Amino acid sequence: MPTDSLPTFPDVEAAAAVVAQHAHRTPVLRSRRLDALAGCQIHLKAEHLQRVGAFKFRGAITALSALDAGQQRAGVVAFSSGNHAQAIALAARELGIRAVIVMPHDAPAQKVAATQGYGAEVVRYDRYTQDREQIATTLAAERGLSVIPPYDHPQVIAGQGTAVMELLEDVGELDVIVTPLGGGGLLSGSILAAGALAPQARVYGVEPAAGDDGVRSLRAGRIVTIETPRTLADGAQTTHLGHLTFPIIRDGVTDLVTATDDELVQTMRVLASDLKQVIEPTGALALAAVLSGAVPDTAGTRVGVVLTGGNIDLSRFAELVGAP
Ligand SMILES: *Cc1c(COP(=O)(O)O)cnc(C)c1O
Repeated sequence: MPTDSLPTFPDVEAAAAVVAQHAHRTPVLRSRRLDALAGCQIHLKAEHLQRVGAFKFRGAITALSALDAGQQRAGVVAFSSGNHAQAIALAARELGIRAVIVMPHDAPAQKVAATQGYGAEVVRYDRYTQDREQIATTLAAERGLSVIPPYDHPQVIAGQGTAVMELLEDVGELDVIVTPLGGGGLLSGSILAAGALAPQARVYGVEPAAGDDGVRSLRAGRIVTIETPRTLADGAQTTHLGHLTFPIIRDGVTDLVTATDDELVQTMRVLASDLKQVIEPTGALALAAVLSGAVPDTAGTRVGVVLTGGNIDLSRFAELVGAP
């Protein structure tokens, strides 16, 4: 498939075959206390327990598997604030492909170390002044590498869609499906999966309140670009949706809503104390919006929520969750 064509559900099904060979089939977590708190039945797809600690491994292994032999021999380059980087690094190692990762100077130390630990070469940049896509494009041209973007890529979208596909296979019908929204790879893949397997379900994406470019884009009917938002949700600090993810979201999403940093921390606390799960701030976006009521009309319904990642320095986690 050319890298500029819109993926469809059969691409998610094809991705599922690749993902099943390499990724964990993550569990779906339930909690009576959480259901009582939320006033609905919540099914948590535990992607913080995925390999590399985030769903991004799904898209990475799908995209790298789709490269031809020559492209695999030459290697790949990716730009990311962290989880996509680790995912590409591990997927590349698994498939015997060389990987270069362009990461911001202020990326969490654990994410940089993990990426290097998987054997990737890390090139640093300043996220507030430099354009990471340009750096990656230059490296690609110099070294003949394939650029694997974090969300605007058909196989990445298809791979991310396998999380909600598995969720629906495991729990059956859902009334509402909620995922975090950064660049929209996960949400657009989820829309493809839900459209085929749960066409009656409402699907919501949740952005950080400080970075609501998706909400604005949906209202404007075109991709709106914002300044790099300052939010705890570093995995959703994107400035714009993609040319592939935007039309899928525009045509398939029920609505986009937001969660504040305070709501993210409160949700991380609930997940730690009631479910004993360590979730990074971005990973808590979807549940935070259900608990705050930003996702409308959930009372008494069956709600699927993707917990997307758990990569956070333990000291940082303690600082956030332990504070009164
Ligand atoms: C990347 C990421 C997101 C956002 O995913 P997109 O596909 O960019 O919308 C959400 N949560 C975590 C933990 C992530 O790493």
